[in-house]
Amino acid sequence: MEIETVAIHVPRSRRDGAIAPPINLSTTFEHGPANEALYAHEYIRDGNPNVDDLQTRLASMENAAGCVAFASGMAAATALVQTLKPGARILFHNNIYFDVIALAGKLMPNWGIEFERRDLTDPTALAAGLAKKPALVWLESPSNPQLDIIDIKAAADAAHSVGAKVVVDSTFAPPVIQRPLDFGVDFVLHSLTKYMGGHSDIQGGAIAFACDDGRFAELAHIRRITGGVLSPFNAWMVSRGVQTLACRVERHCANALAVARALAARPEIARVRYPFLESDPGYEIARRQMTAGGGMVSVEVKGGRSAALKVASKVKLFTNATSLGGVESLIEHRASVEGKATSTPDSLLRLSIGLEAPQDLIADLVAALD
Ligand SMILES: *Cc1c(COP(=O)(O)O)cnc(C)c1O
Repeated sequence: MEIETVAIHVPRSRRDGAIAPPINLSTTFEHGPANEALYAHEYIRDGNPNVDDLQTRLASMENAAGCVAFASGMAAATALVQTLKPGARILFHNNIYFDVIALAGKLMPNWGIEFERRDLTDPTALAAGLAKKPALVWLESPSNPQLDIIDIKAAADAAHSVGAKVVVDSTFAPPVIQRPLDFGVDFVLHSLTKYMGGHSDIQGGAIAFACDDGRFAELAHIRRITGGVLSPFNAWMVSRGVQTLACRVERHCANALAVARALAARPEIARVRYPFLESDPGYEIARRQMTAGGGMVSVEVKGGRSAALKVASKVKLFTNATSLGGVESLIEHRASVEGKATSTPDSLLRLSIGLEAPQDLIADLVAALD
């Protein structure tokens, strides 16, 4: 079955003929007098029917052996780090989601986990990082917010040759346009808050894995102990969201390509970052591992910070707000959000292209640039 069908028909847990599944809010389930299991669930922090359904659905969509859902993308990222022992090392791509960088810099030292950030678009930098024997290589492709593209298969092969596992945070490229596990990586991580939910109204995260060598039990155990549990309502909302993922993302991608092309033609713009623009440095690789370029476009405005902020303050349809993947278009000056330690250029505006008519979005940006 193709992913569009899987998203709608897996799992088939219709119990009473209802076409839309029920939400099961119970925090506790009956057990025997000596805690004998009578039903599939006992306590909400261990598991819930809506969370189970979502995990099954996402695992099928990712061609994964299994999936564990969390309260947020950051809870999922943290759980993956917590599978490592003190002394282990993580090799990160340098320009990744800023709170993952904060997790590395502020919390990992407390746990004795070492890390290094390198430009993993460069195979030589990857090889130098792998020489230090990391346990885990952490990629984002496309990366947030610079839209760097990393050759997922080449990185997975190189990492595996030194015994490292690989995770791809594929939040910018949901499984209808990129399935990292198909290119040999061990884990795919998603913030469900973005395209999977798709309507800027829920938070969640997930890790899907290629092989269940005890991974499900390990991640579910960490979730149980640390409590980063996805609520049944949010699980239900994401299950609902992913059923329209293919349609929504197709339109996000078409709109984003139109916006990227229009902006690339403007004299006020120094650089457009979009993986499916022929001029993008990641274009060739993106064409091999993605079926469309995604809904995110980043642009560098000539004139630096002040010129970028001027555009962000003049747009009318685009709203200045963080996050991405919703139906409405958003704009954000990422350097202002990420703070002093950021590696994001001051001239960069990140655009989350929504589902509006592309000519309206382009007209809004052009009017703000003029
Ligand atoms: C938003 C985001 C996250 C964090 O997800 P939350 O649901 O906000 O915790 C992680 N990685 C990327 C690439 C993101 O865009």
